[in-house]
Amino acid sequence: MTVAKRIIIKGLVQGVGFRPSIYRMAISHRLFGTVENNNTGVIINVEGAINSIENFISELPTGTPLASKISSINIDEIDYIGYTDFSITKSTSQSNEVTEISPDIATCDECLQDIKKQKNRINYAFTNCTNCGPRFTIIKDLPYDRPKTTMDVFPMCEQCNNEYVNILDRRFHAQPVACNNCGPQYTLHQNNSQTSEISEIINKTSELIYNNKLLAIKGLGGFHLACNAFSEESIQLLRKAKSRDGKPFALMFKDIDSIEKYMNVSKVEHNLLTSWRKPIVLLKQKELISNSISIGLDRVGVMLPYMPFHHMLFEKLSIPAIVLTSGNISDEPIIISNDEALSSLHRICDAVVTYNRDIYNRTDDSVTKVIGNRARLIRRSRSYAPSPIELNINTEGIFAGGAELVNCFCIGKGNQAIMSQHIGDLKNLETLEFYEESIERYFKMFRFKPEMAVMDMHPDYLSSRFVESLNIPSTKVQHHHAHIASCMVENQLDEDVIGISFDGTGLGDDGNVWGGEFFVCNLAEYSRINHFEYIPQPGGDAVSKHPWRMMVSYLLQYFGEDIFKNEAILFKDIDNQELSTLLSIIKSNINCPLTSSSGRLFDSIAALLGICLNATYHAEAPMQLESVANYNIDEKYSYMITDIISFKTTFAEIIKDLNSNIGISDIAGKFHNTIVDIIINIAVNTRNETGIKKVVLSGGSFQNSILLEKAEKLLSESGFEYFTQTEIPSNDGGIALGQLAIAAKRRELNII
Ligand code: ZN
Ligand code: FE
Repeated sequence: MTVAKRIIIKGLVQGVGFRPSIYRMAISHRLFGTVENNNTGVIINVEGAINSIENFISELPTGTPLASKISSINIDEIDYIGYTDFSITKSTSQSNEVTEISPDIATCDECLQDIKKQKNRINYAFTNCTNCGPRFTIIKDLPYDRPKTTMDVFPMCEQCNNEYVNILDRRFHAQPVACNNCGPQYTLHQNNSQTSEISEIINKTSELIYNNKLLAIKGLGGFHLACNAFSEESIQLLRKAKSRDGKPFALMFKDIDSIEKYMNVSKVEHNLLTSWRKPIVLLKQKELISNSISIGLDRVGVMLPYMPFHHMLFEKLSIPAIVLTSGNISDEPIIISNDEALSSLHRICDAVVTYNRDIYNRTDDSVTKVIGNRARLIRRSRSYAPSPIELNINTEGIFAGGAELVNCFCIGKGNQAIMSQHIGDLKNLETLEFYEESIERYFKMFRFKPEMAVMDMHPDYLSSRFVESLNIPSTKVQHHHAHIASCMVENQLDEDVIGISFDGTGLGDDGNVWGGEFFVCNLAEYSRINHFEYIPQPGGDAVSKHPWRMMVSYLLQYFGEDIFKNEAILFKDIDNQELSTLLSIIKSNINCPLTSSSGRLFDSIAALLGICLNATYHAEAPMQLESVANYNIDEKYSYMITDIISFKTTFAEIIKDLNSNIGISDIAGKFHNTIVDIIINIAVNTRNETGIKKVVLSGGSFQNSILLEKAEKLLSESGFEYFTQTEIPSNDGGIALGQLAIAAKRRELNII
């Protein structure tokens, strides 16, 4: 029997070779009809034998491209027309309900072969196909078609066009398709000379890197700075050039085998490294490459080549790894324009490699870490953004401004949340401009009309100010409630939970700085059931740069001034004058907001153990504390739980251990166990009181693998269901998603 059906597929289905794959499947099942992209998704009209249509539909989830993701399939009976073939019809834009933009995809193996074999693509560094290549970074508008990308200035040559229109070709409808005859080209700028001959560029680039020179190389989402990973000298040069004292640099390795030589790689890490997204993965080092790549940390950020240029470079290079870090000075956004690179990066580099295709949407390399055998996003950007997150709640028209330090924003479309790529620290002027520009672009690209906005309670966050400037109805959300909500919606939770949020900072509704918080909450509201004891935070936010000052504040609070005389050995590395100034600042309560921050507690312990007295980058002290900690130790310190959680006995016991010459590795391990014990303790008490069995963990402190793995293990052993973040960062990069979910829920309940 012959029937006709309309199949509407939503999800990540545009720009990933979806329609051609549908075409080929339809042909193989002898079906007639059409497939079309419009901005509601992919629409398939099929006619044929009922069995064939059923087989075709059942093949959809597995037969479609690797980088696509189907979120829904709707099937309707339609009238039989009598098609005589199967065809792909041109993109139409019929409504304002826009579907997704594909993130960028790392170069596929077949394209790497083409670079060696295919006549018009020998050594062609922009080779791509429907299965790989740039997407989000070059897209200016939807629907995704070449004229709406930065490829619009490169008319296809006849050969490329033949591939583009040939349904059986791997480049059929690949929008960025290009070859040596028609596509973009690289240029190497060195001193005052330039060359655009690719073999020469590759030769010179590899030679310069090998000889310890610094280079700027244009990547997919922005410029990188590159140097020899095995040369202490060039890494020092790079640190100086970037004004970056201690922050770790990422490495790119030639291939997975060389990574495994230097790093410990688990199966999950292996899969993550080699996935089509090619993110940076934070791996534990087996063999030290250089002392100054990630100072004081046991892990190094590592990735594999994801552009043809990277592969071509490693073929020439005789070293298996290079430093590849974002091309910016200090904390500014990564540079994307050739002009800017040639003016500002050329000053600090020996050569600059550009190409003549514009990067439209800036993306940094994404950063991931495997904790508890699951991949966790630390920085969500290239090859992840702007993939949507599916929610069980209507988010249409809601804009969430995000946090401030590690900003991402978020827009609501239907039942989806579209998170921006990592934006950065808004206090930096250029980053704020990037924020505002990206918001404008997302509104346009996704046909988004903001009806309602949501912001952090902190009135001085630049994101809060931006939200207010929109002049539309808005709602305020407490920072740690947003963290928990972010984790809840990622895990499709919409009920009362025990929410535990540990991080560096966030304004509480009593005006204090929160960050070691225990809630009973749902998506709409929360009540704070316990928290870390308030301690004065001398100097306000600036104290996060000086862990020793927070340590002094803890010790003064718990033991009075005598400790600074009686335990003088603990303070041997602290300047006496600075110490007494600090003590008088705390005692006279000048600019000393109270804080319950977990980040500041970890800072203080790191300082007390002499691991990190002053931090040169965000969260350095807690990361170093995690790195030195003995994972295998079982002991813990005591603490006191009343209405608050006091660490007085914890500090006393740590000092005792220090005086008994217990190693800092063991002390750090015992301290981690103490925090895990507190989590379990409060969770059990709360379950006894409320009957709630679901525990949600979020906040930047849960990027600590010891803390998260041990908490997960013990929560599960204590009969809890626990929920943690994977796809969305548990740091402030995930805040906007939580804000969006809370606003959507409040709107649904009419409590705004
Ligand atoms: Zn390809
Ligand atoms: Fe936070």
